[in-house]
Amino acid sequence: MLSPELKLGIIGYPLEHTLSPVLHQTLMTELGIAGNYQVFETPPDTLAQQLTTLATGGYRGVNITIPHKVAVIPFLKQLSPEAQLVQAVNTIVFGDNGWVGHNTDVIGFSHSLPARMREALPQTHVLILGAGGSARAVLTALIQAQTAQITLAIRSPEKAQAITSVFEAVKAHTQAPTLLQIKPLATLSTLTPYQLVVNTTPVGMAPQTEHSPLAADLVQTLPPNGFVYDLIYRPATTTLMRQCAQQNILTQNGLDMLLYQGVASFRYWSCQEIPGPIIEKARTRLQQHTSTSTG
Ligand code: NAP
Repeated sequence: MLSPELKLGIIGYPLEHTLSPVLHQTLMTELGIAGNYQVFETPPDTLAQQLTTLATGGYRGVNITIPHKVAVIPFLKQLSPEAQLVQAVNTIVFGDNGWVGHNTDVIGFSHSLPARMREALPQTHVLILGAGGSARAVLTALIQAQTAQITLAIRSPEKAQAITSVFEAVKAHTQAPTLLQIKPLATLSTLTPYQLVVNTTPVGMAPQTEHSPLAADLVQTLPPNGFVYDLIYRPATTTLMRQCAQQNILTQNGLDMLLYQGVASFRYWSCQEIPGPIIEKARTRLQQHTSTSTG
C-alpha cells in the first residue's frame, strides 16, 4: 500500500557521506511535494530484507548505491531497457505489479560531461578506472556517444568477463565503433595515450581522502590536453584532482553526475518533470554542502 507522502531513500554500505538526501529533500521542498528521503545503511547480507521492509512500508522507491548496484538485480521483477543493457541498477520503483529497476547513472554521466569533451569522444581514447556498477554506466554512456576507444583498468581480473559482456551488448545495441581493452590496474605504466580518465573507484572518497587511485608519477604522464573526471563528490576536490592540478590538467568531480542521475530518479518516483530553475537550486544546495565539508 503506497503512502500519500512520497517516501524515498537510499540503500548502500557505507553511506555516511551521501549527499542524495540533500538533493531529494530540496527537490521535494521546491516542488511542494510532502515526503522524505532517508538513508538506510545496508550490509550485503541484509539487502533482500531491507528491500522487503521498505516496499511493504509504503516506500515509492529507493536509490541503490555502492556496493549493491549489481547484486540487487535478482530481487527485481523487471528492468528498464537501460538497466537491462548496463546490468546495474541505481533506482528502484516499488510498484503494485512488482519492483522495477532503472539505471539513471548513464544519463547522469553523459549530461554532466562538458560539451567540448562529449563532442570529442569519437576521436578520444578514454581510460576508466574500476569495474563496478558505476563503471558499467560510464562505459555505456561512452559507447552511446560513439567513443573511439576505451581502456578499462581493473583490480580484479575475474570482473573482466562480465564487463566485456556489457560492452558487447551495448555496442551491438548502439552500432558504435568503440574498441575495448581491459588491463590490470597494477600494470598501468603510462597515461599518455588517454585524453580522458574517469575514476569510478571509491579510492579518495571520504573519509579516506588522502588516497588516490593513481600514483603521482603516473599522473605526471597525462597529456597536457587531458581531462580527469572523478566520480567522487565528497570531498569536492579529491587527492587525484589535486595531483592533476599540479600538472595543470583540468578535472571535474561527481557533483553534476549526482545531480543529473538524481533528477532522473526523482522523475521516475514523482512522475513529473522538474523545471530547470529547480534543478539549479538543487545544484547550489549540493555545492554548499560539498564546499563546507571535507568529508
Ligand atoms: P562498486 O560497484 O563497488 O565498484 C567499485 C569499483 O572500484 C570496483 O571495480 C572495485 O574493484 C574498485 N575498487 C574499490 N576499491 C579499490 C581499490 N582500493 N583499488 C582499486 N580498485 C578499487 O561501486 P560504484 O557504485 O561503482 O561506486 C564507485 C564510486 O563512484 C563511489 O565513490 C561512488 O560514490 C561513486 N559514484 C558517484 C556517482 C555520482 O553520481 N557522482 C554515481 C555512482 C557512483 P573490485 O572489482 O576489485 O572490487
